[in-house]
Amino acid sequence: MNIPSGKNIAILSTPPTFTGERLCPLGLVPVGILKLVAYLKRRGNHVEYINMHSGDVQDRSSPAPAGESNAWKEKPMGSGGARKALMRIHGRSFEHFERRLKGLERKPHEVWISCAFTFDYDLVREYADIARRLLPSVKIVAGGDFVRVAPGIAVAAGADEYCAERIPEADECEPDFSSQKKWEYGLFQLQLGCVNKCSFCHVSKDRPRKFDVDGVLGYMKRFYDKYQPTSFWNWDPNVTLYPRQLGEFLDKFAAGGMDGATISFGKGLQPNLVNEALLKKMVRARVFSATLPMESANYEAVKRLNKPYTIISSIKLLELAARSGLQMSECRCTSLLGYPDDDLASFFRIYLSILKFKAVPSPFPVYLFPGSPDYEKYRGVLKNRDYGCLHGQLWPLLPEGEIDNYLNLFKFIELTTLKSVKDNLHLLPPDMKSKLLREFENSDRFVELCLNAKKDTLEEFRRIEKEIAVKRTKKTAAGKTEKAGKPGKAKNVLYVVANPAPERRSVSRQMGKYFTEAYVRTNPRARVTVVDLCAEGLPFINREYVELVYYGEKKEKLSAETEKLVELVEKYIVQLREADEVVIAAPMYTLSIPAILKAYFELIASRLYYFYGKKMLSLKPVVCLLTRDGFYPPGLAVADPRFPYMNVQETLLTAALGFLGLSRSPRFIIAGGLDRKEYIPRAIVMARREIDAYVAVNARK
Ligand code: SF4
Repeated sequence: MNIPSGKNIAILSTPPTFTGERLCPLGLVPVGILKLVAYLKRRGNHVEYINMHSGDVQDRSSPAPAGESNAWKEKPMGSGGARKALMRIHGRSFEHFERRLKGLERKPHEVWISCAFTFDYDLVREYADIARRLLPSVKIVAGGDFVRVAPGIAVAAGADEYCAERIPEADECEPDFSSQKKWEYGLFQLQLGCVNKCSFCHVSKDRPRKFDVDGVLGYMKRFYDKYQPTSFWNWDPNVTLYPRQLGEFLDKFAAGGMDGATISFGKGLQPNLVNEALLKKMVRARVFSATLPMESANYEAVKRLNKPYTIISSIKLLELAARSGLQMSECRCTSLLGYPDDDLASFFRIYLSILKFKAVPSPFPVYLFPGSPDYEKYRGVLKNRDYGCLHGQLWPLLPEGEIDNYLNLFKFIELTTLKSVKDNLHLLPPDMKSKLLREFENSDRFVELCLNAKKDTLEEFRRIEKEIAVKRTKKTAAGKTEKAGKPGKAKNVLYVVANPAPERRSVSRQMGKYFTEAYVRTNPRARVTVVDLCAEGLPFINREYVELVYYGEKKEKLSAETEKLVELVEKYIVQLREADEVVIAAPMYTLSIPAILKAYFELIASRLYYFYGKKMLSLKPVVCLLTRDGFYPPGLAVADPRFPYMNVQETLLTAALGFLGLSRSPRFIIAGGLDRKEYIPRAIVMARREIDAYVAVNARK
């Protein structure tokens, strides 16, 4: 294709489509389109980039932002296509596109539409139709991966011309971010293409190449200085393909003066190319999230996938990542589902292994790309169906009757932690449930065998698979149901909240509410007493109180404030003595707990210690629901330059609760990273999962 010059060009990339849940962050602008903008400008064109993406970086853990998930159209689901699913567009509306096109100062001669996925080709047609209606003589140029994978469908998508090859000169350009005054996140690209030939993937069609690290860091730094983003995102298909280049990049980023920003690797790290040194560099470079591919633990499937590694390397990577200090709650571990011969036992084996390392299981439905080995293999099942029906969430290889089981499986995974697996079993159909229960007996051994494997080969993996003889679990699902149905004990739960903010602004209050409601739902015989310290106006200990309580100096008449102190402390002590369980909700204030909570402890401790002759309280379960900006990993050293502040929140609570005699090891459930708006929904979801797990195990005890 001849690249124009001297033209007015409007250019856009199609936002992704989805149905049901978004499986990964979908709202980011592809960095390649911004490089193309730069290249077209360099050729003397007047270029306007129309951003159709939402900018949202959340995945299925949080609801799609209002107005950025637009219902689009129904598409046939399953291998028969009789069932229908409503597809949604995760991005801005068609009206937005129309408005932008109408509002352009220079009438475009050409509209360029880039699309990443063949199954979204009919979205290109929608934009082309709008553009032609507004600008009858406009030329529509289609490009992107979908054209490279299947050039023929560019015409079906309504293109006058299409670009079926990469444009190397565009790849060389720095991305042009000038279309917007504000960016929440940055983008960067270290490499493209891949040398591997995995059965479901089309990336190897692009010749692998890497970009100059200093050049990449140069545009990142300029972007950082101008827009002050909190994160940089990388969607290179296989960013570990050049480990030395990646290591150099991480070292330089860590020292590059962009301390307020983290890095996220949205696509998979190739497990057999990642070692401990590289992971440590990632931690130093503030890598916030990463995708770790697991894919399958079934020999036949692993063979078919044609990956250059097996689950052995994936499990080793999980273990190394956890040991190196990568934030496991942000490691998304992918595995593939939706083949007619899915081995669900092997899927659950992987699933339990991921949970064991506190990472996030992230199963993906198979997306079929024309020309890929998987597409060729299943041509018979697909019966020449339209490319638009090959979206993974339409489950094109599954019979309709199976789809609900898979949707329930995804729901189960979304709601479940290792501790709550057995409590959420009712979400699974009986067959899946029994497979999962059987895998409980295998997963530890499986992880151990993978970690001890001397090499990562198909033969070695087959040996491990054979060794994992699946044994029938003695615990039946019926037994579990009976247990779940038992009524709980009558319990007094004391809920102490220390936050002056209203609930709509306070995540700790929201966590407390969620906890107490879940508790009572699980054990209707539980009774919750709420102590809202700020609402009660708890004063600090004063001189009169010290003289009275510490030194026994009695006065005829106490001041109103001291009377209030005495009245409150007596009430608090009775409440604590009568409580079977205590829940405390508090935010982090100046790296510690709020002063009012400390005042509560001081008041009670002084009364018990001095007035009641050290007759302290008795041990009982105590749960602390804590919130904070930032992250404070356990074992934090103040000297560590990544975490320059000492966090004393848990230390102080442990000391105070121990001194009162209430608990020697309180349970902490923490929502961190709340200074980053985009992270809050995810932090809440994760805290809720922990609460669910705690309540499921403890509320009826
Ligand atoms: S390693 Fe990743 S990018 Fe490379 S071919 Fe396989 S799936 Fe595609």
